[in-house]
Amino acid sequence: MSDEAASAVLAGLDALRGDVEDWYRDLHAHPELGFAEHRTAAEVAGKLRACGYEVTTGIGGTGVVGVLVHGTGPVVLLRAELDALPLRERTGLPYASRAGGDGAEGRAVMHACGHDVHMACLLGAAHLMAAAPGAWQGTLVVLFQPAEESGAGARAMIADGLAERIPAPDIALAQHVFHAPAGYVGTRAGSFLAAADTLRVVLHGRGAHGSKPEASVDPVVLAAMVVLRLQTIVARELAAAEQAVVTVGSIRAGEGANVIPESAELLVNVRAFDEDVRARVIEAVGRMVRAECAASRAPREPEIEHLSSFPATRNDPEATARVAAAFGRHFADAVRAERLTPSDDFTEIPRALGAPSTFWVIGGTDPAAYAAAERAGTLAADVPVNHSPRFAPVLQPTLDTGVRALVVAALAWLAPPAA
Ligand SMILES: [Zn+2]
Ligand SMILES: [Zn+2]
Repeated sequence: MSDEAASAVLAGLDALRGDVEDWYRDLHAHPELGFAEHRTAAEVAGKLRACGYEVTTGIGGTGVVGVLVHGTGPVVLLRAELDALPLRERTGLPYASRAGGDGAEGRAVMHACGHDVHMACLLGAAHLMAAAPGAWQGTLVVLFQPAEESGAGARAMIADGLAERIPAPDIALAQHVFHAPAGYVGTRAGSFLAAADTLRVVLHGRGAHGSKPEASVDPVVLAAMVVLRLQTIVARELAAAEQAVVTVGSIRAGEGANVIPESAELLVNVRAFDEDVRARVIEAVGRMVRAECAASRAPREPEIEHLSSFPATRNDPEATARVAAAFGRHFADAVRAERLTPSDDFTEIPRALGAPSTFWVIGGTDPAAYAAAERAGTLAADVPVNHSPRFAPVLQPTLDTGVRALVVAALAWLAPPAA
């Protein structure tokens, strides 16, 4: 049934492979930051129109949606992301970023999270599905969202009336490439990716001459106390079986050695899989920050601002079982994935549209290089992860795997009933 449909749709992959690789290299060479993905959105929209999709652009800023209707049947939504990261690429690839690369002008931007892989694969799957109308029935919605990295893009599309502008999906699906060996496909029912919260903390002290600490309340020392104290949340307040990460990713205070500054600013990132753990960690951050300020006799209460938040990614068990079964028939090495601490705002979309959803991961690292690093015990040092300036997925089998996974998963709903 769906296997026959998948074979019929994927029969076109050999002929399309070169195009998918070209699209990938072009998108990789022209990365754009969140909500500024104008060229990227135009490229995606043009390629969808070229194979017959009804395309809407400018949803939530730069979001693009293509809809293809083949008779009556389920509505399947497939999602990818348009945005890149403010990073200087260090891959040395011939198709490396032209934004801020060697000799280029302007701010450095890089597709270091693999969103270019997701786009190329989704365009490939969209083309193959359009070229095989006899193999499926229903409606395919392909969605390219802006600004995933800030956690604001999915919400922007929803706020711009996404629900009224597309057919209501019966299922929403998305994938992410990461540093596993290319060819790897991993699904997981239930809790999968962590929720993430970013907090901005401003600690107020009293500035003074560097020679007169007794006249000051030193926010640099206070900030140092806070950074260390926050490490005790995971170590001492959570149970061994509970998981969370607390990272202080930025600390800023002062300009010169002989001036005790007025204030210090920390950016704190919190990851947790469980809503209860998440709430307890955020409460603990606030409590410890306020208590350290009191301990340092800070003249004012600290300011704690919630800058961004990503929901936890929880995969619908039934939908995941359906996708996992289809992957099991199609891929030799489809596996059950471990939980991962990164975060993704995909869940906002199915939540707003009232659809079940599932999210899976594919590998992007050269399998031989991965195996060599694993043997040498140097995986962490030698295999670049997402957001690294050296993150460079191998073209194949990464792109083929991503295209196949999208087609096979979509057909788990769209394949025609057995005759
Ligand atoms: Zn990312
Ligand atoms: Zn990403």
